[in-house]
Amino acid sequence: MLPEAVAAMTEELPRTGNASSLHTSGRRARRIVEEARERVGDALGAGPSEVVFTAGGTEADNLAVKGLFWARRAQDARRRRIVASPVEHHAVLDAVEWLAAHEGAEIDWLPVDSLGRVDLVALGETLARDPGSVALVTVMWANNEVGTVQPVAEIVAAAHEHGIPVHSDAVQAVGQLAVDFGVSGLDCLTVSGHKIGGPVGAGAVLARRGLDLVPVLHGGGQERGVRSGTLDVPALHAFGVAAEIAVADREELAVRIGALRDDLLRAVVAAVPDAVLRGDPDPAGRLPFNAHATFPGCEGDSLLYLLDARGVECSTGSACQAGVPQPSHVLLAMGVPEPVARGALRFSLGRTSTAADVEAVAAAIGPAVERARRAGVGGFATEAVPS
Ligand code: PLP
Repeated sequence: MLPEAVAAMTEELPRTGNASSLHTSGRRARRIVEEARERVGDALGAGPSEVVFTAGGTEADNLAVKGLFWARRAQDARRRRIVASPVEHHAVLDAVEWLAAHEGAEIDWLPVDSLGRVDLVALGETLARDPGSVALVTVMWANNEVGTVQPVAEIVAAAHEHGIPVHSDAVQAVGQLAVDFGVSGLDCLTVSGHKIGGPVGAGAVLARRGLDLVPVLHGGGQERGVRSGTLDVPALHAFGVAAEIAVADREELAVRIGALRDDLLRAVVAAVPDAVLRGDPDPAGRLPFNAHATFPGCEGDSLLYLLDARGVECSTGSACQAGVPQPSHVLLAMGVPEPVARGALRFSLGRTSTAADVEAVAAAIGPAVERARRAGVGGFATEAVPS
C-alpha cells in the first residue's frame, strides 16, 4: 500500500461511525465516503453518482456481469447471450459460466489472436447474429497474465451500434494506462484497490448514469440499493487516496517502470535464449508493469519455487485442480500448446521496483531454468492462484 493510503486508513480505523447513521459520527463517516467517491470518480473520469463501492474487484466483476445480465433479461426475456473474451480473469470467467450453468445464459466466447487480443471481425459477426438476444459484452481492458491491452473503444463502438451494453474489467489497467470512464463510452467498469496502492478488499463498479444493475448482495440498501453492506470507511478512504495518487503518477511510472520491465525481459532472454516472451511485444499494446515468458522444458511451478528460494517472487498464472497444476486458460486461448503453457512465469513490477530487483532476476533465472529442466515436468505441486 502507498504510505499515504496507509496513513488515511490508519487515521480512520479507530473512529466510530456507520456511514448510514444519522448522528454526528455517522454524518462524518458519510462525508469521508463521499469524498472517496469523488476522488475515485475524478481519477477515473466518472461522476460520483456513477461509483458503486464494493469489497474488491471480484465482487465488482460479479455485480457488473450478473447485475447487467439480470437487468437486461428482466427488460427482455430474449436477452440471454453473453459475449465474452476467453482470457478474462476468473472473477468474470466464472461469473459468466455460473450464469450459463444456473441462469440460462448462453456464452459466445470471442476468439483471440496469439497475443490474446480479441478478434473484432468475429465480435462484429457475433453481435450481428440476432443482436436482440445479447444481454451484454464483457472484455477486460488489459490482461492480468500477459499484459495485452484490448481494443476497448472498438469493442464499445461495435456493441453500441446494436444498443448492447459493455462491461470492462479494468483492474490491471488503472494506474498503468490512461483510463477515462466517460471517454471510453463503457457502460460498466471494474476497479480494485489493491492493484493501485490501496487496500485489499476495496473496489468499485463504475456504472454509467441510468444503467440498471440488479443487486447481487441484498440487505440494508447501501450504495443506492445496488450493493448492500455497511461501508468500510477506512478502506474506502484509503482507496480514494490511492486512486488519486496512482492516476497522478501514472505517466511517470509507465515510463520508468516500463524501462525496467524492458531491462528485465532483455536479461531473461540473455540468460535463457529459448525463453519465449508472451503478450504484445509492442510496448504500446501491453501493460508497462507486466512481463511474461514461457520457458521450454520447465514446469512453471518448479521455476517459481526455485526463484522464490533466491528471493524472487513471481507467479505462473496456472490454476490447480485436485493438486495438479493446470496451464493458464489465457495461454491456451492464445493457442499456446499445453506443454509449453506449463512453463509460464509472470513478473509484476511496481512503483517500488528497482534496477537491483532486475539484476536479482537476471542472476537467478538461468540457474533456476537449468535446475527446473533437470527436475523435469511435474516436480512440484502448487495450490495458490495468484491474481
Ligand atoms: N480482475 C483482474 C484483471 C485481476 O487481475 C484481479 C486480481 O486481483 C481481479 C479482477 C480480482 O480483484 P480482487 O483481487 O480485488 O478481488
